Amino acid sequence: MGAKHTSQIMPANEAPAKKFIIGIIDVQNDFCTGGPLAVSEAEHAIAAINKLRYIYDEHIQTFITQDWHNAKHMSFAETFKLEPHTGPHKHRLLMEDETYVDVEQMAWPKHCLENTYGAQLHRDLVVIKQDKFIKKGTKKNVESYSGFGDADQGKYEKTELYSWLQLLQITDIILTGIATDYCVYYTALDALRLGFSVHLIIDCTRGVAKDTTAKALKDMKEKGIVFYNTVDEFHQTNKQLIFDNSYTNYIPYLNKK
Ligand SMILES: [Zn+2]
Repeated sequence: MGAKHTSQIMPANEAPAKKFIIGIIDVQNDFCTGGPLAVSEAEHAIAAINKLRYIYDEHIQTFITQDWHNAKHMSFAETFKLEPHTGPHKHRLLMEDETYVDVEQMAWPKHCLENTYGAQLHRDLVVIKQDKFIKKGTKKNVESYSGFGDADQGKYEKTELYSWLQLLQITDIILTGIATDYCVYYTALDALRLGFSVHLIIDCTRGVAKDTTAKALKDMKEKGIVFYNTVDEFHQTNKQLIFDNSYTNYIPYLNKK
């Protein structure tokens, strides 16, 4: 008579405790050997990312970001007749909402022009049809180092990354790609701000410069991002969480087969 019908009051869609995703940042030709903004040893990072994918592709989803710029993008030295690799420079720029915004921006060589070879993913990177592709830096006067959008919390460019991760109920992002000191770094900070746990595999990333990379790594570590030196180290630490479906309770990929 007094029995509780507990089976009736269990929530139908209880959120999983942990759900991982792999994030690959800007592994594009212009950031690799031969490109105008080549990052040293980028190909080593690609090999490590492919190893990570080989282990986990059957278990977890991946998203891939691409820098995707207009020919007159505000991050290009040429747009303001500046020397590449200098700055930050101050600019007053007109936004799409007709307001002017003051920004400080590094001047980079022209890179990742939309629909060009330089913006394509490096041919060595393993890509599968279930991957989610996110383009960023698509507005002429907005810089988005982060895969989530601009540095103003996505006020002027907000990609679909955050809403898509929410839809998949992701809790943990395994972050990889180029460059450690810029786009990986800012994506990591945004991810933390938005409530995700972030795992960074050092061997799966490479930076533009030693000093800025060291600074970015130090800051990420202090802010609570979990570091692993290699894919093996990540795997040994997390495989149980990822492979154990009864614990992780993965929902099927939205676009898988
Ligand atoms: Zn860029």
